[in-house]
Amino acid sequence: MGKKIVVLGGGESGCGAAVLAKAKGLEVFVSDSGELKSPYRELLADYHIDREEGGHSGDLLKEAAEVIKSPGIPDSAPVVQDALLRKIPVISEIEFAARYTKAFTVCVTGSNGKTTTSSLIYHMMKRAGLNAGLAGNIGKSFARMVAEQDHDYYSLEVSSFQLDGISRFKPDVAVLLNITPDHLDRYGYRLDNYIDSKFRIIKNLDENDAFIWCSDDPVLESEMKTRKTAAVHYPFSQITEHSRGGCIKENKLIIKSHNKKFEMELDELALRGRHNIYNSMAAGIAGQLLRIRKEVIRESLSGFQGIEHRLEPVLRIRGIEFINDSKATNVNSTWYGLESMNRPVVWIAGGIDKGNDYSMLENLVREKVHAIVCLGKDNSKLLDFFSGKVPAIVEASSMEEAVRSAYYLAKTEDAVLLSPSCASFDLFENYEDRGRQFKICVRNL
Ligand code: ADP
Repeated sequence: MGKKIVVLGGGESGCGAAVLAKAKGLEVFVSDSGELKSPYRELLADYHIDREEGGHSGDLLKEAAEVIKSPGIPDSAPVVQDALLRKIPVISEIEFAARYTKAFTVCVTGSNGKTTTSSLIYHMMKRAGLNAGLAGNIGKSFARMVAEQDHDYYSLEVSSFQLDGISRFKPDVAVLLNITPDHLDRYGYRLDNYIDSKFRIIKNLDENDAFIWCSDDPVLESEMKTRKTAAVHYPFSQITEHSRGGCIKENKLIIKSHNKKFEMELDELALRGRHNIYNSMAAGIAGQLLRIRKEVIRESLSGFQGIEHRLEPVLRIRGIEFINDSKATNVNSTWYGLESMNRPVVWIAGGIDKGNDYSMLENLVREKVHAIVCLGKDNSKLLDFFSGKVPAIVEASSMEEAVRSAYYLAKTEDAVLLSPSCASFDLFENYEDRGRQFKICVRNL
């Protein structure tokens, strides 16, 4: 067994792990099968970290004590299989980072709402004056923060891929928002595998820890009948009142823990939409567990500015409101986007379909949408499903054309909602590029 830490992948996660390993005096080597990108190439050079790119060398694993795998690399990659054959532990960057910090961690996962909820929790921590960091899937990697600027508290956004590579990682507060099919290509097209992966978040919790989860989510509700954890449960729901956790009563959001009760009018919440009530509840429960004062929780939930590309209001023109929900890359997030609209909608959808089943949107679309603009290289699935179900359905091959068509189809008091339900890579670099182009085209109208 060697003594080297081998990091696979030289993006934010891999470089963060490498920087931390170097800072702790470990021998570390980064290997990327593709090209290293800026600013990571420069970062590794600055820290004098040994590296290779454009492929993994034959003797890469020869002296490896441990492999840290970036979340984008599947287990099926030959180099990972090789490491497993050689019985070299393969871990994720959060597992590695957690070894080097004593911070209190709130860890958020789920299919949708991770960024929103972890940002809300971070916002609350900061308002409460805690020395807090926001890391994980969002902004800086956890490892890089621990290496460069460790904090006393973290709000961590974690993906299923990060959870796959944990063995001892144990958050103090675990939040599981929901589970709907996503990334199934990485899980052998089996929802069960993806569910197991998400539930790894409770794997190491003990009775001093807390588990916050949504009991309205059918998958979570059914799984929790059989899954065991010693952690204290804080379920939240918009239907059921639990003795501990979050609920809705008479248009109030209520949170109960430690014999304490927090109440807030739903109208006061900064983030609109039913999904954001869930996100606010989860964040509020975390806030109570952090013993943050009620006034601070209230101010945080009512003053939060929202995040770019998530139901982001862009502009109102001739009474038509343009909303950027480019981050809605699956059907479930679009469902919540449409559900939160309280005016007739012209809906811009499409892109790369990840095996979407549009039937869950049918009722909402019939009720709220009077025109669909399909924005993708191949729109056949959207056209096949929705033709005849809405008064107008048209195609566009660029964002500019889509925005112009939507503007033309919209009436005063309508909303034009970009909520694609699809990945963006056919016409855009990523969902951020798609959202930014939308905003530019709207402003150019
Ligand atoms: P993630 O980080 O999990 O991708 P985001 O907070 O970035 O989640 O939101 C992604 C998309 O999902 C956005 O379109 C947003 O409006 C929607 N969304 C946010 N929270 C939820 C939720 N709790 N349930 C379903 N959809 C949600």
